[in-house]
Amino acid sequence: MITRTRTKIVATLGPATCEIGAIRRLAQAGADVFRINFSHGDNEHRKELLDNIRAVEADMRRPLCIMGDLCGPKIRVRKITGGAVLLGEGQEIAIQGQDILGTATRISTTLEELAQQVEAGQLMLLDDGKIRLEIVEVISGDEILCRVTQGGILSESKGVNLPGTKLKISAITEKDRADVEWIAARDFDYVALSFVQVADDVIELRRLLDAAGCHAGIVAKIERPRAIENIDAIVDAADAVMVARGDLGVEMDLPAVPIAQKRIARLCRLKGKPCIIATQMLESMTTLPTPTRAEVSDVANAVQDLADAVMLSGETAVGRHPSAAVKMMDRIAAEMQSYHDQDRAIGPIQVIGAPQTVASLAKAVQEITATQPIAAIAAFTITGSTARILSKQRPRCPILGISPELAVVRQMCLYYGVQSMQAGLVEHTTDVLELAAKFAIEQGVAEPGDNIIVISGRPLGKTGVTNTLVIHTIR
Ligand code: PEP
Repeated sequence: MITRTRTKIVATLGPATCEIGAIRRLAQAGADVFRINFSHGDNEHRKELLDNIRAVEADMRRPLCIMGDLCGPKIRVRKITGGAVLLGEGQEIAIQGQDILGTATRISTTLEELAQQVEAGQLMLLDDGKIRLEIVEVISGDEILCRVTQGGILSESKGVNLPGTKLKISAITEKDRADVEWIAARDFDYVALSFVQVADDVIELRRLLDAAGCHAGIVAKIERPRAIENIDAIVDAADAVMVARGDLGVEMDLPAVPIAQKRIARLCRLKGKPCIIATQMLESMTTLPTPTRAEVSDVANAVQDLADAVMLSGETAVGRHPSAAVKMMDRIAAEMQSYHDQDRAIGPIQVIGAPQTVASLAKAVQEITATQPIAAIAAFTITGSTARILSKQRPRCPILGISPELAVVRQMCLYYGVQSMQAGLVEHTTDVLELAAKFAIEQGVAEPGDNIIVISGRPLGKTGVTNTLVIHTIR
């Protein structure tokens, strides 16, 4: 029998992993989803990445999922003379809207109207919080004066965070709109939206994607405290959620981030949406071949926190050991799986917002798998929604997500415990059981004599009619 790790792995691609060979090694090590970051590179390079992932997918005969991650309204320091300057504690620095070549006493940022949105006394963080400034005075609509309260070397293009400020900027910038248009014309499976603040940000992206005829799912990146205030509506509006701990850890009190992670993952379980835990999970593997003990615990705890997927960023994009990092992440999640499976606290749940019959069948599946040996659950699903709801029960055996739609098969790669595959519409009810048994054996998750659960809908071939649960003994 083949045991695949149920927790999914998202690997970010970058200079260290753009070639076909490197992408294949990531997939072989256990990566299910590939993240293409729109903050770096150009469309020519991104097209090459897309083609390379699809070539590996065809070669490995295994669906792979692609996520385009939009930059969003990330504020950055503009160009600086010599590339970097030293900011000393106690010194003053002016920040102006108009683009200039920065110095140690005057810089500009990508948010031209910054001075119109901040007040004296507020905190400004540069370079992921490594440098701290206090806004002393708003001099004009174009200029503010700050005092450095924690100094350091400031390099150009570093991020700017304003934790206490309710910024009046849309989550979708002009660049994002152009990127969405580009994405919509290609086969991306998810689009991640950065710096979401309210559900309307997600709804606006959905409108843009719909207008372009694109069915990619939307991943709402939670990286601002305001998103946490509006988390219920954001989870409802999105197809998946990412706890983007990099910016979140700068924007909110760092010790509060683990609690936010647990709350968001639990809410996602209740509402039937996949949750990705991201950033610095195996950070030290960017340069070293082994992670720290704390990093290993972080990945294991993310599984126990009910993450559907765990993500690697710099580790795979620019790291020296990209496939070793994926392999390590996979091993940690696999090791954690049996402990997680035995945790009685993870009982059946009634997923909110799911069709009543599907939610009840999924709950029944959890009860059955907890009380008798079931090798696998086969779910016939046209939109993927049945497999998604089932996965939220976190059953103790694999779920086979079987859909006629290739795009759905790829999207299901993000769902915890789901091994997805494509099959044409089945015409006869007896074929459903035979096909389920065939796939279970082919996937190496069941043998003749094993029981599997088969979930499907009658009439066959229609969406929204899931209504049948059969416990089938494979002959
Ligand atoms: C993060 O901030 O944690 C994150 C995932 O976003 P990005 O990598 O785009 O900064």
